[in-house]
Parts: sequence; structure tokens; C-alpha cells
Amino acid sequence: MTEQTSSVAGSRSYSVAVLGGDGIGPEVVQAAVKVSQHCASKYGFTLHMRPALVGGAAYDAVGTPLPAETLSTCRECDAVLLGAVGGPKYDTLPPALRPEVGALLPLRKELGLFANLRPARLFPALASASALRADIVGAGLDLLVVRELTGGIYFGSPKGRSADGLSAVDTCTYSRTEIERILHVGFRAAAQRSRRLCSVDKANVLESSRFWREICNEVAAQYPDVALTHMLVDNCAMQLVRDPRQFDVIVTENMFGDILSDEASMLTGSLGMLPSASLGEASSAGGRGTFGMYEPVHGSAPDIAGKGIANPLATIISAAMLLRHSLGEDRAAEDIERAVAEVLDAGLRTADIAAAGASSVGTDAMCEAVIARLS
Ligand code: NAD
Repeated sequence: MTEQTSSVAGSRSYSVAVLGGDGIGPEVVQAAVKVSQHCASKYGFTLHMRPALVGGAAYDAVGTPLPAETLSTCRECDAVLLGAVGGPKYDTLPPALRPEVGALLPLRKELGLFANLRPARLFPALASASALRADIVGAGLDLLVVRELTGGIYFGSPKGRSADGLSAVDTCTYSRTEIERILHVGFRAAAQRSRRLCSVDKANVLESSRFWREICNEVAAQYPDVALTHMLVDNCAMQLVRDPRQFDVIVTENMFGDILSDEASMLTGSLGMLPSASLGEASSAGGRGTFGMYEPVHGSAPDIAGKGIANPLATIISAAMLLRHSLGEDRAAEDIERAVAEVLDAGLRTADIAAAGASSVGTDAMCEAVIARLS
């Protein structure tokens, strides 16, 4: 991909690092870039798209999955749009050179992306794809899991095996600062949606969870319009399949969020439809949004790469999240989300979301259909 700018004279101007990655990554990212640029000219802002290498593609080109140049391009931009990384060709490389370990984790760490937003939205037109019965998911399901991404048991120390090899340890540790900043992300998200926030912990057993709950009750005082509830993680896992519509925004720590966001996303049934955002600290620069990295939940799908049949909607919806959270272009974001819903209502399907035996369209046709429905 070459650098692309959709320019409107005298307009608001943003730069986005575009990391296609491997497999279907470049295909779905190209579709999302096309939709975003269309929105830019429609809503009067300028998007400067800056492509950079990542994952196996970067390893093949320069011998490392995350070149320093890619990291500095990301740092110079307002946001990052990522496709997917990885593939069988790279599975036997040493961990540091593997796309997921050597590129995704360091990208999140280096860019300070501590808040992972995983919306799970079941479009009414795709209700039959849900793993749950229609009477449980209803006419549509729309919830958001806010997961802490850079702390907790995945990063705490000590971590490892004992010298005699007879025991192992992982440590769940959280500072007040880490807890407060993710809770603020959760409260702000809830304030912009239905004003209901469910904080998930294991306060009946874990000290770190009791600390979390205490701080959560303190932070809640700053958001009097948001109704806060607390739920134990085991109950939450059960309630998500018993009555998922009781939830709007869930905020939780790293490991609980890892598990619950995967569970919630499967309620929508379709990997090709799921976006995600990983956000850093809110910007204090006037009016600017929060720096973030936006990517579909799915992987590089090597089985269908290069065939032109990948579903681009997860990446297109990720681009809508980018416009909203990092660029503050809410109207453009809403327009994309509405256009996607309309395309699905009209019956258009890529192969992964088509009913057995029904006809389907390819990546380009789906992208063009979304563009055609932008207001
Ligand atoms: P995957 O998500 O790539 O694919 C799982 C199945 O879903 C495949 O059959 C695939 O064809 C299908 N699929 C996925 N996305 C699709 C889309 N947009 N349209 C149509 N069909 C789609 O998971 P996997 O096969 O377990 O992993 C493949 C590679 O991707 C591995 O190397 C894995 O490590 C990597 N991976 C990367 C990320 C990431 O970059 N964030 C996430 C998950 C997996």
C-alpha cells in the first residue's frame, strides 16, 4: 500500500498508521481505508494514511516482526489501524521473531495501550448466527467489554518456576493508578451509552479484587449519572449466556476480561464481524481524541488469504471506532455503523456469514456496498 491522503482544503487533519500485516490483513485493511477516506471527504476532514510493515510481512522484508520504523510511524500518528498478523510459515520461529509475540505484544506495551474495548454487537439481520436461542439474544445484542490490558496476572512478578521445578507462580498485582485509569474508561463509555456499568471482580476471594471494588466505588462518585453494579466473575460468565441483555458496559481486569470478552463475542456468532480498540491515556491536547490501535478480533485467516472473499466488516467497524475514539469524528463513525447495518438488512453476505447454500459476495463488493450506503 502506498501513502494515501484524502484531502479537504482547510479541514481538520489526522494521520493514521496503516499496518496491514499478514494473510487477509492487507485485504480487509484496504477496504476499511477506502471507507474511511470516503467518509473524510464527505465530512470535511483530511486523513493521511501512512502504511508500515508489521508481523510476518515485516519479518520477510527486514528480518523483524516489528521494525523500529513502524513503531516510530505509529508514535507520530493519531491512531493505528491494524489488520492481522501471523501464519503457519512463522510458527516455528523463536518467540521474539513470531508475529504475535514479537509484534502485537510489544506494540501494545510500547504504545501504552492499557484499555481494550471489545464491543459484542449482534446485528438483527444476523440473529440466527448467535450461539444462543433467539428468545435469549432478542432482536439484537449490544454490549461492550472494557478490559485492562497491561497489568494483572499476565505481567506481575514474581512469575516462573521454582528452582526444584516442583512449583510455579504467577502474581496478580495492580496499582491504584492502573485501576483508576481503566475504571474511568469504563465509566466514560457507560456515560456515552445507556449509563449502566457492571464492574466484574472476584472480591469474595482476591485481595486485588477487593482493592479494585473499593476504588471503583470511589471513582463512581465522579459519575453520578452512571448506575454501577458489581458482579463476581463466575456469576458474570454464567449471566452472559443466561441473560446477556442485562449488560451494557462491563469493566474488568486483564485475565477476567480476556475470558469474558471472548465469551461475549461468541454470542454474536461471527468472527468476521467483531471489531476492537486498544486505547492509551486520554489526550490532554484540546479536542483531540485518545490515541489507540484498532483491529478486527479475527486473525490472518491463511486458509482464505488472497482469494478476495474475506469479510471486511470487522475492520470497517474498527475504523469507525478509530474515527470516534481517536479522531473525535463521531458523525462519520455513526454513518459507517449505520451503513453496515443497512447492508446486512439488505441481505448482502460474505461467505462466512451467509446461510448454507445462499449466495455471497467478495471483499470488494461488500466494501463498495457499505460506501454506497454512507449518507
Ligand atoms: P483466524 O481468525 O485467522 O481464522 C479462524 C477461521 O475464521 C478461519 O476459517 C478463517 O478463514 C475464518 N475467518 C477469520 N476471519 C475471517 C474474515 N474476516 N472473513 C472470513 N472468514 C474469516 O484464526 P486462526 O486460524 O486460529 O489463526 C490464523 C493465524 O492468525 C495464526 O497465525 C494466529 O496466530 C493469527 N492470529 C492473529 C491475530 C491478530 O493478529 N490479532 C488474532 C488471532 C489469530
